[in-house]
Amino acid sequence: AKEAGRNQMILFDDELREKRLAAARTVERLREAITRDEFLVYYQPLVRLTDERITGVEALIRWQPAGEKMVPPDRFIGIAEDSGLIVPIGSWVLRESCRVAAGWNRRHGTVVSVNVSPRQLREPDFGLLVLDVLRTSGLPPEALILEITEGVLVNSGKVTEQAISHLSMLRSHGIKVAIDDFGTGYSSLAYLRDLPIDNLKIDRSFMPAPGSPDLAAQTLVKTIIDLAAGLRLGTIAEGVETAEQVVLLRELGCDRAQGFFYSRPVPEADATRLIQDSATA
Ligand code: C2E
Ligand code: CA
Ligand code: CA
Ligand code: CA
Repeated sequence: AKEAGRNQMILFDDELREKRLAAARTVERLREAITRDEFLVYYQPLVRLTDERITGVEALIRWQPAGEKMVPPDRFIGIAEDSGLIVPIGSWVLRESCRVAAGWNRRHGTVVSVNVSPRQLREPDFGLLVLDVLRTSGLPPEALILEITEGVLVNSGKVTEQAISHLSMLRSHGIKVAIDDFGTGYSSLAYLRDLPIDNLKIDRSFMPAPGSPDLAAQTLVKTIIDLAAGLRLGTIAEGVETAEQVVLLRELGCDRAQGFFYSRPVPEADATRLIQDSATA
């Protein structure tokens, strides 16, 4: 038994070493990707449920290494966060998506939602960076939504002051803040009343399963929408895949929806077409 234990330990050590090596290689390749300009932004429409028009888009990063398959964010965002590379990568996403969205906003009033990682909000210059990006892109502050997860604002019961001060400052300029993946964190609800936020994005794990009444899921979604309404927060449902989900969300008074039912995330040119078509429909 002792022998087996030791073998397992060796195996575990090897696996750990493998993982670390793989992560170190990814960090190297991410560094190169920045200098080689290998990142792209895809855009997924956010649809207003009252009239089903596209009123906004979420910017979602993609990595396209030369001659290889596109790498989805789940494969590199975590490593970019741990290594700190998310700071330059995140700044690039913000600049690029605000530049592109400024054109859509001028023509159609479209807003853009950008994901911000906890690491970026710890940077003392984050607030100034956002204001600079708005100035250079010409995007009005009201047309930018920053998406953060609840862990950014509340960590083991404590409010993170640096993040709060950035977001409060930015909101005083008109920028909006959304809590991403709402309901999947474990923080107390009390924080919702006091934090500098404008919208809740209902995580897709709450969407009722297609083809079944799924009353438990319906109750959860209704509860989140009612809670948001009581706190004067907007609601965005993510992961909407079916017409039945759309009907339910509209009945419950959800403001906006995003998901494969309307569109997958698409490259800039396709997003331009979707936004134009939606405006002239
Ligand atoms: P997220 O912020 O929750 O983004 C939504 C994810 O759900 C996207 O995955 C999107 O493609 C996917 N999705 C949208 N509609 C549906 C649907 O109807 N059904 C299903 N099954 N999935 C749907 P994606 O683009 O692979 O991004 C994954 C995550 O990577 C994002 O989750 C976000 O946490 C992170 N991420 C993406 N871009 C950035 C970025 O620029 N910065 C940071 N920090 N994180 C990013
Ligand atoms: Ca998001
Ligand atoms: Ca989300
Ligand atoms: Ca999610």
